[in-house]
Amino acid sequence: MDLKKLAVFLKENGVPAFRLKQVREAVYKNYAATWDEIPVLPAPLRDKLVREFRIHSLDTLETQVSKKGDAIKFCFEIKGGLKIESVLLNLMPEKWSLCLSTQAGCPVRCPFCATGRKGLKRNLSPDEITDQFLAAAHYLKTTRQQKISSVIFMGMGEPFLNYDSLAEAIRTITDAELIGLGQRHVSVSTAGHVPGIRRFAQDFPQCNLAISLHAVDDKLRSDLVPLNNTYPLSQLVKALKDYITTTKRRVFVEYVMLEGINNSRSMAPKLNSWLRSVAAPKYFTVNLITYNRTGGPYRAPARERVAIFAELLGNLGVEVTIRKSLGDDIAGACGQLAGK
Ligand code: SF4
Repeated sequence: MDLKKLAVFLKENGVPAFRLKQVREAVYKNYAATWDEIPVLPAPLRDKLVREFRIHSLDTLETQVSKKGDAIKFCFEIKGGLKIESVLLNLMPEKWSLCLSTQAGCPVRCPFCATGRKGLKRNLSPDEITDQFLAAAHYLKTTRQQKISSVIFMGMGEPFLNYDSLAEAIRTITDAELIGLGQRHVSVSTAGHVPGIRRFAQDFPQCNLAISLHAVDDKLRSDLVPLNNTYPLSQLVKALKDYITTTKRRVFVEYVMLEGINNSRSMAPKLNSWLRSVAAPKYFTVNLITYNRTGGPYRAPARERVAIFAELLGNLGVEVTIRKSLGDDIAGACGQLAGK
């Protein structure tokens, strides 16, 4: 919702200022998605708002629930007829994490990612980002009487390539007067956009940072994450060192396991050495993500191969988790969002 525009609209129509507060409470705290869900407003004002002002800047085209019920994917249409997706993931009982998109498509073009194959259509506005939250929160409230407990900017797009909108969305999501989620419950995942990491450390030192690393030599990483051509590993090392010095926070390292590409036994000690070149192991958690099918030439390793890689890292003193893959059957798992 564009609160500034609404404030102007209400003022121009001679509506007293306290009505804005009522709308703000209803939309950001109680997740009202239609004007009819705000009965505290006088009927004539509601009728006018129904005709002239949208609450959400996007329309929900489709909602898909995974067979196990632990992933819910939303396909939204935004201005210009473009489609974007967000996914709710039920990682723990009654704890829902929302994976948000920041761009329609993505210019980074990682070859294993369905979004990357589309290229960039455009950046999302701050409202188009926060309205994904509001629409998903409304769905959870009305269908399960549950709430979103954390968000991760890991959907479509590279968040730091749309930094200003991202920052405004984080402020809305964490503002106690608006959505009010704690900063520690907000994570941003980047493909390694160095200037973005530096700004993020200054602007949001309490939020979490995740890096999509996937390889620790420049040749392979540039193949898998083409942004590495602009910000090679040497620059990423420096930016992460500075990030940790500034924030004293742990960094989450995402490592997608691609069979025969980056999952050989010899790569585990190389990954360990690279991490140690940045900071002590206590500053990292490595998340191993088994590749989810996206129609590309890659294959997922067998479960045992992922477990062996995890064990090798663990034996070297690295904290490592194997990401539970949710929503594969609705193309809602990592790397599968495409906004079809
Ligand atoms: S993995 Fe992330 S950065 Fe890479 S193309 Fe997909 S959305 Fe973009």
